[in-house]
Amino acid sequence: MIEITFPDNSVREFNEAVNGYEIAKSISNRLAKEVLSISVNGEVWDLSRRIESDASIKLHTWDDKEGKDTFWHSSAHLMAEAIEYFYPGTKFGIGPTVDIGFYYDVDLPDGKVLTDKDLPKIEQKMLELARQKNEIIRSEISKDDALSMFTDRDDELKQELISELEDGTITLYKQGRFTDLCRGPHLPNTSYIKAIKLTAIAGAYWRGDEHNKMLTRVYGVTFPKAKMLEEYLVMLEEAKKRDHRKIGKEMELFAFSESVGQGLPLWLPKGAQLREQLENFLKKVQKKHGYQQVITPHIGDVNLYKTSGHYEKYGKDSFQPINTPADGEEYLLKPMNCPHHCEIYKVRPKSYKDLPVRMAEFGTVYRYEQSGELHGLTRVRSFTQDDAHIFCRPDQLKDEFKKVIDIIFIIFDALNFKNYTAQISLRDPEKPEKYIGSPENWDKSEKAIIEACEEKGLNTVTEVGEAAFYGPKLDFMIKDALGRSWQLGTIQVDYNLPERFEMEYIGADDKRHRPVMIHRAPFGSMERFVAVLIEHTAGKFPLWLTPEQVVVLPISEKFNEYAEKVSNFLNISDIRTVVDNRNEKIGRKIRDNELKRIPYLLIVGEKEVNSETVSVRRQGEGDKGTMTTKEFVNFITEEIRDQLSGLYN
Ligand SMILES: [Zn+2]
Ligand SMILES: [Zn+2]
Repeated sequence: MIEITFPDNSVREFNEAVNGYEIAKSISNRLAKEVLSISVNGEVWDLSRRIESDASIKLHTWDDKEGKDTFWHSSAHLMAEAIEYFYPGTKFGIGPTVDIGFYYDVDLPDGKVLTDKDLPKIEQKMLELARQKNEIIRSEISKDDALSMFTDRDDELKQELISELEDGTITLYKQGRFTDLCRGPHLPNTSYIKAIKLTAIAGAYWRGDEHNKMLTRVYGVTFPKAKMLEEYLVMLEEAKKRDHRKIGKEMELFAFSESVGQGLPLWLPKGAQLREQLENFLKKVQKKHGYQQVITPHIGDVNLYKTSGHYEKYGKDSFQPINTPADGEEYLLKPMNCPHHCEIYKVRPKSYKDLPVRMAEFGTVYRYEQSGELHGLTRVRSFTQDDAHIFCRPDQLKDEFKKVIDIIFIIFDALNFKNYTAQISLRDPEKPEKYIGSPENWDKSEKAIIEACEEKGLNTVTEVGEAAFYGPKLDFMIKDALGRSWQLGTIQVDYNLPERFEMEYIGADDKRHRPVMIHRAPFGSMERFVAVLIEHTAGKFPLWLTPEQVVVLPISEKFNEYAEKVSNFLNISDIRTVVDNRNEKIGRKIRDNELKRIPYLLIVGEKEVNSETVSVRRQGEGDKGTMTTKEFVNFITEEIRDQLSGLYN
């Protein structure tokens, strides 16, 4: 008798060893069709692998990350099989899954290089092989046998991988004529894969090391239904249109210049305007929650980062120290703001009554990224964090967490992110040696995070073993308008830096205590956040935030003077307004300015001048009628206030 325990703690008994597929089938035929893999005591297995003794399980379908991973990794093998069919003797590096889809690094024989033109025939072959419904078979192999197998094949890539594995843990997977070294898990057979698109080819150094051979990386994505691929391709098209690099250029928000240097964004006037709005907004929210702004330099003594431990992390692999011409000093471009804030904490002795101290800074930091890794505003070498550090007593941790969650709620609300989840990352209780700080403190802080989330009604998933070595954390993920996930703000507890910087406060007991530190950055960085915002809104920012809120359009040059007067009045009323006084037809002006994504268009001609009014058009909504300029100010101010209600309530 075997007892199988489900995630809801219900139990089913089976007379003999059973596999994932059979478990699913015992529940329903429908589930048996949808299930892709199974977690057995926390390890993901093939559906066909037999469970010989009592176990806790979870069945994975397309809706789970584990299910998709199984599906996509099996697709990587299918692609490898197709590539080997056309190019026998190909060597295969690694073939992992990515956010959406998979890739395989391949080394074709005789110096042959794949191009985009080769992809359709490989797709076709994959479909043909998928339809053959070839069983995917797992087998265990000794290290010696595995080594000699891939030595026979002359595949030094796999030999290198095998040599790093432990004997007794090595498995092979075979389907049709193709066998691969693989940990698995895989689908039961190839016929699950119904729709295939190979999306890109890129060069990739073996194991990411530029001293190694350059391999060809082939990316693809597959689906269990043809319709899902169609939807995905539509989404990709839309994503291309929303690419923040494209819209950023069109809207003149930011630019890069090779003369300035790679990965160093230049904020143009409208982008700077946008950023300033975001910063002012967050400053107001933070002020309401008891934060104080600080300002610290862009460089710091190397020893500061040795104390904090950041030198170890960023020193050798980042920008190199700056040396002074005399005095032999060494400075580092600031990779993190935290050490500077720790020093601010220490300027004056603290008592328990002084805590919590909440210190905020829009702090620009510098980290070296390889040029191939740079990408628009999402991967840069200099970026500004909406950083803050909270130093508090252990008993204040939960309340502080709740306050940060409140701030994040206000931000998501004002920016229309409706779809988000949060992940709580806890320590692995079986590996206490991995973590700094006492187990009691960890217990307390983990409990504080969990309770804070519950009390705030936050929808969370919990990952055990995902905490940083210095403390548990809470991460927010948002889904954008195209359903893509982005990781945004993090709230991180830290027991390490207070220790390293020997921070203290005098408790009610008159003794010295260590404060707890919380790092938090709701936007993450201004650069990345603006990129996400552009792609989420396609550049149609909320009214309160958009760089140009109103454009006044005189019907002809005769009315330019009146248009300027209206614009001046709006600008002194804090409504960001421009005038389009080009000598163009009004229809053309309306079209051009709608393309610029300006929310309000005010049209002025003879009638408006005589009655001292404006004709109002709202982007995407059309005519809003005629108002006096004053009425319009009230009208638009009301709308802005409404969007920022979280700030005012
Ligand atoms: Zn594999
Ligand atoms: Zn920090």
